[in-house]
Amino acid sequence: MDSHALHIQSWDADAATGASGHLTIDLAALQRNYRKLSAAVAPAMAAAVVKADAYGLGAEQVSKALHAQGCRHFFVAQLLEAIELKLRLPNDTQIFVLNGLQPGGEVTCADAGVIPVLNSLEQFRRWSSAGQKLGRVLPAVLQFDTGMSRLGIPLHERSTLAADLKGCGNLEILFIMSHLACADEADNKQNADQLAEMRVIAAEFAGLDVCFANSGGVFLGGDYHGVLARPGIALYGGAPTAGTHNPMEPVVRLEVAVIQTRTVPAGTRVGYGGTHVTSVETRLATIAAGYADGLPRSLSDRGAVFYDGVRLPIVGRVSMDSITVDITALPEGTLSLGSLVEVLGPHQTLEDVAEAVGTISYEILTSLGRRYERRYR
Ligand SMILES: *Cc1c(COP(=O)(O)O)cnc(C)c1O
Repeated sequence: MDSHALHIQSWDADAATGASGHLTIDLAALQRNYRKLSAAVAPAMAAAVVKADAYGLGAEQVSKALHAQGCRHFFVAQLLEAIELKLRLPNDTQIFVLNGLQPGGEVTCADAGVIPVLNSLEQFRRWSSAGQKLGRVLPAVLQFDTGMSRLGIPLHERSTLAADLKGCGNLEILFIMSHLACADEADNKQNADQLAEMRVIAAEFAGLDVCFANSGGVFLGGDYHGVLARPGIALYGGAPTAGTHNPMEPVVRLEVAVIQTRTVPAGTRVGYGGTHVTSVETRLATIAAGYADGLPRSLSDRGAVFYDGVRLPIVGRVSMDSITVDITALPEGTLSLGSLVEVLGPHQTLEDVAEAVGTISYEILTSLGRRYERRYR
């Protein structure tokens, strides 16, 4: 009892978390990115894609900051994400579920006031009969497959759906949408193919507004904007277009604390498997984040962290809770227990880390673990 009380009294959150890492999420930069995207698509509007906890950055904080900038349309992947967000946002928002309407979810979805993206004729009919049973006109979005073959109403269901829609008084279709498969590749011909298909669909469903562009699509030009764009990664500072200057502002900074330093002679093995062997006397620092914190194990022996702009290569394998880096390039004594090194920040972008391990910024962001102390600015 006593020792428990003592423990709680002496609990110091800063000291307790200071030995791991700080994930700083710059909500002002997020807001500037939203304004930039809104300006790029005007007179169309910009929604926000906040699925997977806003790409790992915190759906509630992110959505509230975007709401303050006038964002009223939010896309998530799953019904549960939508319900949680609905409870936290003002009533003047619309929340859409990209993954569609799952069987059994109709009443929950209707009661929560969440809007399903209907991806098939079957989903359309189920939502329509839910409206009939509830005696309500339910809102919905129709998503069409224009060439990605992932989600959306297929070509062969379109005419039946169009006929069903004519006699359907239980649904209010807010807009039609589709998703681009290659929008980050400005020169990819599939973009124009999908746009052409979307125009055919818009003619078949005349009178309905179009929602089309993701982040990459925003920068493909006005033809792709429709009335509502759906950027995700660009809001969070990720590059919307591959291989060109990233026009977005970084939103995430990740600093991780040093938890031990040492000097080892030439010929010393480092880390699991002894995959790295020092060739000269080397100074090492171990930092308090590993693959359980979203730093991929594939960074082993290839990635780096930074301190004061100096690159500190990762040596040996990435462990679950820590990584060892070579700090010989820094003057002796620069780093000690508690010093913070940069994993993501001015010297290393999301794309840099992603490229080092052959993945995309999205995967790095959404993997960032729960053990960092999160700071919203
Ligand atoms: C994830 C997603 C988006 C956002 O894509 P970004 O490339 O992050 O901008 C938009 N639309 C759909 C259907 C999605 O699944």
